[in-house]
Amino acid sequence: MFWNEEIETLARPELERLQLRRLRQTLERAVRSPFYRRRLTGRGEDPPRIESLEDVASLPFTTKDDLRSDENYPYGFLTVDREQLVRLHSSSGTTGRPTTILHTRGDLDSWTELVARCLTMAGVTASDVFQNMMGYGLFTGGLGLHYGAERVGALTIPAGAGNSRKQISLMRDFSTTAIHIIPSYALRLPSTFENMGYDPRDLPVRTAILGAEPHSDTIRRRIEALWGLKAFNSYGLSEMNGPGVAFECECQEGLHLWEDSYLVEIIDPDTLAPLPEGERGELVLTTLTREGMPLVRYRTQDLTSARRDHCPCGRTHLRIDRITGRTDDMLIIKGVNIYPIQVERVLMRFSEIGSNYLIVLTREERVDQMTVMAELEKGFFRGDLASLEGLRSRIANELRGEILITPRVELVEAGSLPVAEGKAIRVEDRRNG
Ligand code: AMP
Ligand code: ZN
Repeated sequence: MFWNEEIETLARPELERLQLRRLRQTLERAVRSPFYRRRLTGRGEDPPRIESLEDVASLPFTTKDDLRSDENYPYGFLTVDREQLVRLHSSSGTTGRPTTILHTRGDLDSWTELVARCLTMAGVTASDVFQNMMGYGLFTGGLGLHYGAERVGALTIPAGAGNSRKQISLMRDFSTTAIHIIPSYALRLPSTFENMGYDPRDLPVRTAILGAEPHSDTIRRRIEALWGLKAFNSYGLSEMNGPGVAFECECQEGLHLWEDSYLVEIIDPDTLAPLPEGERGELVLTTLTREGMPLVRYRTQDLTSARRDHCPCGRTHLRIDRITGRTDDMLIIKGVNIYPIQVERVLMRFSEIGSNYLIVLTREERVDQMTVMAELEKGFFRGDLASLEGLRSRIANELRGEILITPRVELVEAGSLPVAEGKAIRVEDRRNG
């Protein structure tokens, strides 16, 4: 089922012609902004000449720091008069000034169209009751998805984040069939169901859209089993609107990224050189339809790979692999590079381990130490210390196999690690201070 079959299945040569035309338009538009006028024009204020899509590689990158520098924040990227702007959103970053994106009416309309395409991929239609359990406000997961859900005609409940009992009452009272939820919350909410004497599998919820934070495929399967539903991975970032950038089709082998709206590159984050197809690196995106604030070669810091081979669903837009983390999530411990998702992948192989974990970094006598704290599955520990110790050392061993160092492993009671209302916090760095 397609929302916009013509565009979603456009043959690659046509798709690339469309991209080239839109890339040129984007550059013409971009140089109207103070930032890109400085960055992209030489003498004469003309935009850079682009003969083919590959020429994009000759343009400079745009970074998060460009967006939030004193020189450019808040209006330095604008290509339109302020009267043409109708909405502001910003990233949910916890360090420094968040990046802020301003949208025209046309931008909101294009964004809504992309979200509608994604939801249709997950089988969401006008007959669904769609409960959006993401934060409404500056965060894009709320309003961004909301308008897409309304556009496909679903009865859309703007439930917002948190307030678990209320969420459950809404689901029960209105027979919610589809939800949009952060994976770590989807893992936690079933225990509130249990406290209220219900089982989420008894509700009619059959589809979950999981987005906003990295999660392994095992976590997805756990969520599916707990709720008795099918879950789809949804990727986006506020600098590229928010949700609606890339989404899984029913084949679930990668996320189709809407190439009529974004030009995709994968680069080596250290050398900044383009990587061959299929290799994992940093995703770089150029907006192709953005009016108010076009972004050229934006470094997302997200790590993935891209493939352009045929997908049985019929969509021709390339697929990116599940995001495994961000370049700035990388931990360097004892000289080894480690991503939190590697720890998650190992932990989730153990059925005795629940779904919440925390990596704690400390410095002891000038040596970095990594401690992995993992919650036990409810009901696992029945006072048998020997089996607990056995489990602990098996986990430590498998972690060494994956991340090459042996961290300390602490097994803690279910529900004892901190939880965040928004995106899960997986690393606590206590090394400075
Ligand atoms: P924000 O701009 O605050 O919405 O955050 C966007 C960031 O969230 C992205 O750059 C990713 O790092 C992360 N993110 C969003 N969706 C996913 C997803 N499905 N899988 C992994 N990471 C995600
Ligand atoms: Zn597909």
